[in-house]
Amino acid sequence: MGNHKAVTIQFPAPLPAEILCPICEGNKCKVCDMTGKMKLVVDAKVPIQRNLIVKYVSNNLEQIALELSRNYGLVPEVNTEEVFECNEKRQYEIVKISSLGGVIWIANRLDDLESPRYFTTLKELTRFKEGWFT
Ligand SMILES: [Zn+2]
Repeated sequence: MGNHKAVTIQFPAPLPAEILCPICEGNKCKVCDMTGKMKLVVDAKVPIQRNLIVKYVSNNLEQIALELSRNYGLVPEVNTEEVFECNEKRQYEIVKISSLGGVIWIANRLDDLESPRYFTTLKELTRFKEGWFT
């Protein structure tokens, strides 16, 4: 986050509050059940720091991802990034999957049967393409 100041976000939070009975002003009456007080739900807003929300999302990514898909129709972006041929004329399709949780690449062999390979860093993918993993 570097030098960024902590950003605070106001979240609605219904809070119970107790006030002096406005009818009897605390002298006890039928309206306040002879307590002199009344309970109200106040539509307050509580400040929450943005980095805590980010941490929460990070800690609960799988569940949040499911809810984002179910409730908002959000899905990761899936693209064929490229088709390339490496040593010995092996052909691979590189599929890139981008989501809130990060980016991964899948290498699918096109010219033969082979288990797909998964890469979680661009560095690994680059090494694979340069022929390090063949
Ligand atoms: Zn009262």
